[in-house]
Amino acid sequence: MIGIQLERVQNRIRQAAQACGRSPEAVRLVAVSKTVGAERVQSAIQAGAGILGENYIQEAQGKFNQLYNEKVEWHFIGHLQSKKSKYAVRMFDLIHSVDSLKLATTLNKEAAKLDKVQEILIQVNLSGETTKSGVSAKEVLPLLEAAAGLDNIRIQGLMTMPPFFDDPDRARPFFEALADLRDHLGLNPTANAHLTELSMGMTGDFEVAIAAGATLVRIGTAIFGERQYKVDQ
Ligand SMILES: *Cc1c(COP(=O)(O)O)cnc(C)c1O
Repeated sequence: MIGIQLERVQNRIRQAAQACGRSPEAVRLVAVSKTVGAERVQSAIQAGAGILGENYIQEAQGKFNQLYNEKVEWHFIGHLQSKKSKYAVRMFDLIHSVDSLKLATTLNKEAAKLDKVQEILIQVNLSGETTKSGVSAKEVLPLLEAAAGLDNIRIQGLMTMPPFFDDPDRARPFFEALADLRDHLGLNPTANAHLTELSMGMTGDFEVAIAAGATLVRIGTAIFGERQYKVDQ
């Protein structure tokens, strides 16, 4: 079941990329496994999921410990409190949701202890919804500049989560705005060249996000089905 759904999603990603003249390899799928138990996550890995996306540190730790032998990337996509940075840098290859200098600084410090360079994205709140994390568009450049001296983090790009719309076309301006922001940040060209990743697009709107330039799409429901808000160990 998970294998079939995963394959369908992978096909849709490929078709969406081809439809706008992009290489399918330019778009990576993050299988969002929040609330999904380790056994079903393992089925997804066996079926070819190469990247897992988790939202909660404690929940991720359980699965990480059970699945540490699996060849898979772990990405953190939820809201991260600075005080949990220590655990985050141990587990995650990429943290999509950095939204303050304080968090970037703490991640840098904890990564240094592990002799690791932690890859991160800056989460941008383009809708101004107060329920969503992220810095505003105009805060991105100052945050990038302030974080530039932190040697144990590497900022790879931007992430956003538009408001929920029934019609995915209404999310399009938000995806285009994130791509546009990345393209016109005003960093010097070498610094800008590192911002290769755009993490945007979920089950309801990932095809639209791919057309706007997404390099990472974060998809849960279309792979694992509707979430039950209780971890189904
Ligand atoms: C849960 C979640 C997703 C996946 O959402 P689906 O609609 O199930 O695909 C993507 N991104 C973030 C940040 C999430 O919290």
